[in-house]
Amino acid sequence: MSLRFNAVNNLAGNEETEVPVTAKITGIFGENVFTLKTARELLSDEAFKSLKTSIKGGKKIDRVMANQIASGLRQWAESKGVTHYTHWFQPLTGTTAEKHDSFFTIKSDGTAIEEFDGGALIQQEPDASSFPSGGLRATFEARGYTAWDPSSPAFIMEIGHGKTLCIPTVFVSYTGELLDYKGPLLKALEALNKSAVEVCNYFDKNVTKVTATLGWEQEYFVIDEGLFNARPDLVMSGRTVFGHPPAKGQQLEDHYFGSIPERVYAFMRDFEGEAYKVGIPLRTRHNEVAPAQFECAPIFEEVSVAVDHNTLLMDIMNRVARRHGLRVLLHEKPFAGINGSGKHNNWSMATDTGVNLLAPGKTPKTNLMFLTFFVNTIKAVHDYSDLLRACIASAGNDFRLGANEAPPAIISVFVGQYLSKVLEDVETRVGNKFDEQDEAILKLDLHRSIPELLLDNTDRNRTSPFAFTGNKFEFRAVGSAANCASAMTVLNTILAETLKSFKKDVDALIEKGEKKEIAIMHVIREYVVSSKKVLFEKDGYSGEWADEAEKRGLPNIKTTPLALDAMISQKAQALYTSTGVLSHSEIEARHEIELEKYIKVVQIESRMMGELATANILPAAIKYQNVLTENVKGLKEVGLPESAYSKQLQVLNKISEHISKVSDLVEQMIEARKAVNQIENTRDKAIAYCDDVKGKYFDNIRYHVDKLELLVDDEEWSLPKYREILFLR
Ligand code: ADP
Ligand code: MG
Repeated sequence: MSLRFNAVNNLAGNEETEVPVTAKITGIFGENVFTLKTARELLSDEAFKSLKTSIKGGKKIDRVMANQIASGLRQWAESKGVTHYTHWFQPLTGTTAEKHDSFFTIKSDGTAIEEFDGGALIQQEPDASSFPSGGLRATFEARGYTAWDPSSPAFIMEIGHGKTLCIPTVFVSYTGELLDYKGPLLKALEALNKSAVEVCNYFDKNVTKVTATLGWEQEYFVIDEGLFNARPDLVMSGRTVFGHPPAKGQQLEDHYFGSIPERVYAFMRDFEGEAYKVGIPLRTRHNEVAPAQFECAPIFEEVSVAVDHNTLLMDIMNRVARRHGLRVLLHEKPFAGINGSGKHNNWSMATDTGVNLLAPGKTPKTNLMFLTFFVNTIKAVHDYSDLLRACIASAGNDFRLGANEAPPAIISVFVGQYLSKVLEDVETRVGNKFDEQDEAILKLDLHRSIPELLLDNTDRNRTSPFAFTGNKFEFRAVGSAANCASAMTVLNTILAETLKSFKKDVDALIEKGEKKEIAIMHVIREYVVSSKKVLFEKDGYSGEWADEAEKRGLPNIKTTPLALDAMISQKAQALYTSTGVLSHSEIEARHEIELEKYIKVVQIESRMMGELATANILPAAIKYQNVLTENVKGLKEVGLPESAYSKQLQVLNKISEHISKVSDLVEQMIEARKAVNQIENTRDKAIAYCDDVKGKYFDNIRYHVDKLELLVDDEEWSLPKYREILFLR
């Protein structure tokens, strides 16, 4: 029996996996996290203070203190049955990495002890020569090391019965180049903090720290593991390269409003339990638009912690799904013709005085502060829309952007009717002198209009890649499999830079003798005018928008290799250097890595297509072709008229045509790939993979294979069909 039918048969016998019952989330929340409260109990005053200041981005921890903290960490971890520790980091491969070491060691005199000192906490050398470094490590040094990031708390990961102490780290080369996602993110957040505090101080001298906040919404598919295993394309590339859409797709929208299936529900409760233990504050879970698609979202947190929690959760989901005989698909487009998955990034900024900088204010003063950050964000998106496009570019996301289910590849900002009006007022009414009109704008009770803002947003906002949603912006073009750090690094960096210019511009006016509020109002107006073209309120999925955007001069780059160009533009280099987020060589290395990732993905998918077509599809089709041929021959032999087998002949004709198309195209694709593989330059090669391999052959081959799927005897078709993968559990 083929894996397909085996898997379908097994489905009936699938039992629900027991999930430990959690009476109260608060009972387990954060139990596996080395929180400040735990630290307070276990550390000396001195060590605790040192840890606390370094969490706040302050001073480095010295060796003596590090030893004390390490010892406290080990004591805590051992009390929970932990024997191993690992430096946990996020290499540019997009997953997390670990190298487990045990506390166990043997001293020079031969005694065996458990040990974990400051050195082991602060720095470790992973055997990491195979992580991507875009040539950096090869150029500068042979190896890299991981360095403790105290701003993210250590936690215990439970895998089966094993427990490991995970120390969040950044991954750096010996010469100091950042080789991971976290390093530049932390620098971007620091740059934002610096610029934003200075601007805040126009309004409130008490602000000493600004943190960016992130609440992600993770979409994913859940499917049966047996069916997953019977689809080599899902196993190898995370998406189905073939498959005819099922008779029933998502038209009925019955899944969106339906109840969550039992087996999936058990899986959800299980991974949520694991997530709570490591301190991930998940709050919502629900079905999504497509069949078998779901979403979960936490309460927002500081960006760096939220990023860790998202990558950690993706890992937990993958592991826990297997306990339930299920598989999680995080790919942006696992099924053609069915909605793909994204990861909305809700983002804002908060001060240490407790103010959300993107929440409209109640008084003229707080309104002005809100308008300042609101308009600076719009300006940042306007000035660096190409970089925002680049940071969400991936082979997977290319299938989703602009495919009438996700925002288009054109970056624009949606602010809603109400704030559009406010911006219009700012533009037209602010005069050359501060007068009643300015005063009137500032006197608007923007805060009271929040319900209106939300109302504004509910119907159309899904089509905008960057939408204001009442008290935060929502970056909706991020892919479901992405590490949020990419998007967050760019967003916070461009805002840091824009706020820096803003301060300069305002100060220049103040120096000329302008009153502070007036100076601010004037620069705001200038920014509104200069970045207006990025604002778009209507349907972003429509064809008119693509035309309109072109007229406005907004870029609409549909494929990854070209979208990535923005990463290394002069403008980007200047931005990263000025904010200190990435060096010249680091940007180039990252660009190279993204291109290489793209090439590999398309190459794997292309190989998968060739293999499946040749070894699965064509044999089944030829077998059925023979059955039909025999049938026709037989009918003819017994002397029946042609009308008796004309239908069979028709089908036979079609099948034969598709068979020859598939085999021809596959052969041509392989030749094309061979040619492309000869290209030396990475960018040229990525473009060639995009145009000459994917562009020319993927849809084409798929068309004929999907036609065959409808013609060939179902019994002979070895790949699980969409209807089985999406609707059976
Ligand atoms: P909706 O469900 O309509 O999208 P929610 O208010 O539930 O709106 O928010 C969605 C996500 O936005 C959640 O993850 C939430 O934590 C996050 N969020 C809310 N406020 C902020 C904020 N100030 N900064 C960052 N994220 C936020
Ligand atoms: Mg949302």
